[in-house]
Amino acid sequence: MKKIKTIDDFNFENQTALIRVDFNVPVNKFFEITDDTRIRYSIPTIKKIFSDKGKIVLISHFKRPKGIFRKEHSIKFLSDHLSKKLKISVNFCEVCVGKTVIEKVNALKPGEILLLENLRFYKEEEKEDHNFAYELSKLGNIYVNDAFGVVHRKHASITILPKFFKQKKCIGFLMKKEIQYLNQFLHGKGKKPITVLLGGAKISSKIEIIENFIKFADSILIGGGMSYPIVKIKGGRVGDSMIEKNQKFEKILKKILYKYQNIIHLPDDVIVADSFKNEANTKIVSIYSIPDGWMGLDIGPSSIKNFCKIIKKSGSIFWNGPVGVFEFSNFSLGTKSMAKAIANATEKGAFSLVGGGDSLASLKMGNYEKKISYLSTGGGSMLYYLNNKTLPGIEAIIS
Ligand code: AMP
Repeated sequence: MKKIKTIDDFNFENQTALIRVDFNVPVNKFFEITDDTRIRYSIPTIKKIFSDKGKIVLISHFKRPKGIFRKEHSIKFLSDHLSKKLKISVNFCEVCVGKTVIEKVNALKPGEILLLENLRFYKEEEKEDHNFAYELSKLGNIYVNDAFGVVHRKHASITILPKFFKQKKCIGFLMKKEIQYLNQFLHGKGKKPITVLLGGAKISSKIEIIENFIKFADSILIGGGMSYPIVKIKGGRVGDSMIEKNQKFEKILKKILYKYQNIIHLPDDVIVADSFKNEANTKIVSIYSIPDGWMGLDIGPSSIKNFCKIIKKSGSIFWNGPVGVFEFSNFSLGTKSMAKAIANATEKGAFSLVGGGDSLASLKMGNYEKKISYLSTGGGSMLYYLNNKTLPGIEAIIS
C-alpha cells in the first residue's frame, strides 16, 4: 500500500494551505450548531499550519443547495463559530473563485485564515468540473484534504483539485485519525477480542464489510433489518419483517455463514409488531419463528443480554447501524442498550469506534457520546472505505 502523505510531511512556513474541510454540521431552525464535532476535529490541522507560520484558506460545502445561491445555505455564520474556537478572527469571502477571492488570498499574512462560501453554490463542484477545480487551485500552494465526511464523493474539490498540486498534497489530522482507526479494525490490529456490531436496514450496503471484517473479528453481532435475510437463509420464518429486495448478497452470505458460523451472532429473540408504528401490538418471539402478519422491529431481552455480554468482554468495538427501529420509542430499547454497553465497555478500557448518523443519534439519546473513544465524522465514507478499502479522495492524494 502506498504511503499517504499527511500534513506532518510538510512545513507550511509562508505557504498557503488550501484545506478542504467538511463543515456540513447539523443546525437547528435558528442556525445554531447542534453538534460541532466536525469543526472541533479539524482544529488540530489548522493549529499545525499556524504553528508552522502558514496561511489558511478553508473550503467546505454545507447541505445541498444544488448549484443555487440560497441564503439559508450560506456558511458565513460558521466564521463566527470558528473564530470563537480558534480565538482569532476568521475572515470570510462570499465567493469561491475569481478575482475577489484571489485578492483576499494574496492579502493573507502568516497566521491568518479565510473561510470561503459554500462550494455547492457552484453546480460545477458536484459535477467534478475541471475548470472549477483549476480556479480553486489558484487559492493555495499545498492542498490538504481533511473532509472525511465527503471523501467518498467524486466532487471537484475532492478528486480533481488535488491533481493541480502535483506532489504538494496531503491529508489532515482528522482524515489521518479516521483512516488509522478504521484500518485498525480492517486489518485486525485492534486490542482483542474484536467485536463488530452491525445494524440498520440494508444488508447489501454492508455485505463486503462483513466479508472484510470476518477474517479478524472475534464476534460480529448483527441486528436490525439486516438480520432477517440471514434468518431466512438459515431456514427461519421471518413473517412480515423487512427483507431487502435486492438479494444479490445471498451467495456471499451462505458462504460466510457456513465457514464462520461461530463468529456471527444473530439475535435469538425479537420484539415483533402487528404493524409498522410505535403504538402497534407487540410480543416477544424467537427470531426463527415470526408468525405471518408480524414484523420484527427490535431485538428482544435475551438478545440484549447476549450482545451486551460479548460487548462487555471486548477489547475493541466497532458499531454502525441501529438494531431496531429506534426512531419509535417502543422499539428503541435494543439500540439504546447497545449504546450503553459500548459506553460502559469503553470506560473499562475498550477502544470504541462508532459511525453513522443513526448510531450517533442513539448514543446522544443516552448522553453516551462523550464516553466513546472515537466518533467517526462520516457515515457514508466510513462504509465506503470498509467495503472497498480505498476512497476516491485518498486515491487523488496518492496519485
Ligand atoms: P441503514 O441506513 O441501513 O443503517 O438503516 C437505518 C434504518 O434501519 C433506521 O432508520 C432503522 O429504523 C431501520 N431499521 C433497523 N431495524 C429495522 C427493522 N427491524 N425493521 C425495519 N427497519 C429497521
